[in-house]
Amino acid sequence: MINFNVPPLVGKEHDYIREAIASHKICGDGAFSKKCHAWLEERFGCRKALLTTSGSSALDMAALLCDIQPGDEVILPSFTFSSTANSFAIYGAKLVFVDVRPDTMNIDETLIESAITEKTRVIVPVHYAGVACEMDIIMDIARRHNLLVVEDAAQGVMSTYKGRPLGTIGDVGCYSFHETKNYSMGEGGAVSVNNPEMVERAEILREKGTNRAKFFRGQVDKYNWVDIGDSFLPSELNAAYLYAQLEVADEINNNRLHSWEEYDKAFRPLEAEGLIDLPVVPEDCVHNAHMYYIKCRSLEERTAFISFLKERGVMAVFHYVPLHSAPAGLKFGRFHGEDKYTTADSDRLVRLPMYYGLTEEDRNTVIKAVKEFYNK
Ligand SMILES: *Cc1c(COP(=O)(O)O)cnc(C)c1O
Repeated sequence: MINFNVPPLVGKEHDYIREAIASHKICGDGAFSKKCHAWLEERFGCRKALLTTSGSSALDMAALLCDIQPGDEVILPSFTFSSTANSFAIYGAKLVFVDVRPDTMNIDETLIESAITEKTRVIVPVHYAGVACEMDIIMDIARRHNLLVVEDAAQGVMSTYKGRPLGTIGDVGCYSFHETKNYSMGEGGAVSVNNPEMVERAEILREKGTNRAKFFRGQVDKYNWVDIGDSFLPSELNAAYLYAQLEVADEINNNRLHSWEEYDKAFRPLEAEGLIDLPVVPEDCVHNAHMYYIKCRSLEERTAFISFLKERGVMAVFHYVPLHSAPAGLKFGRFHGEDKYTTADSDRLVRLPMYYGLTEEDRNTVIKAVKEFYNK
């Protein structure tokens, strides 16, 4: 069976975890966490990078940093993971879902402005499949309406928009290092705090509402409970696993991109015949091969496609059920405007096996099965 995902393992993880254990410092913010923070800050130019226990908790921190109050409105796509919505719904926000663009499956930036009301506080672009949203336009809308921007860059680690790393453009960016993402620590994530006014508060929120980070830097002589907060920091064991992968981030990225390109080359002829639709990467965007998806012509065809591939030992999977049609989405949100593509295109979308180390042989098996389905 060719799995849909295999968590990345590059080799040094065992050594680093052993090192973390031997250091007798296995709680958060030890040597490996610091190395991960420094890597993210140097490589991406994050103002402040802080590891979290998941991409979801990174989004929770972002919602706290935005100081979301009951009744505030947050604009986001409906075609996303529940976490994007949860983090704001927890604090009483009303979710305002906006349709996606069919080419990237990202929020349609041209529809955002009409969804803004006097209650709107935050826009949450989700960089689907690691392909950037139209950030210049989104940031301009946010600036003109005095809104904050939280990038859900859970899938966008190592991707760029006009040369700028995803997660470093909005006020806060959120990364995931879940085992299904390009770089992993099992469960984990990070926030990239870009708004200078949020940096100190981010450290406090993450350390149970205390000014412990300042204390460790010798900036205060005792630490105290100064604000609300929670424990958002992961164990050193997880950070050690992640650091091994960040060290070879380019190798992982290139390996995935190669598989992505091979799929793309193989499937473009099917697209030219009008049998399927393929992902589009806009000119200014460099993606990270987080995902390779195709769109079948209908939901029925997709169901048949997935079982056809399964019979040939290939695990292909569909993705999000749009949040606005889910029970919690109905309760906490509303769809603004027409649902032209969110439901129709999510019904057609199917993801193919994609992971670091996918072999040529397995990739060819996938390609052959897809072509067979379309009698090619
Ligand atoms: C994976 C993902 C998350 C959540 O990350 P976890 O680390 O699994 O909590 C949030 N948003 C998007 C778009 C994701 O893909």
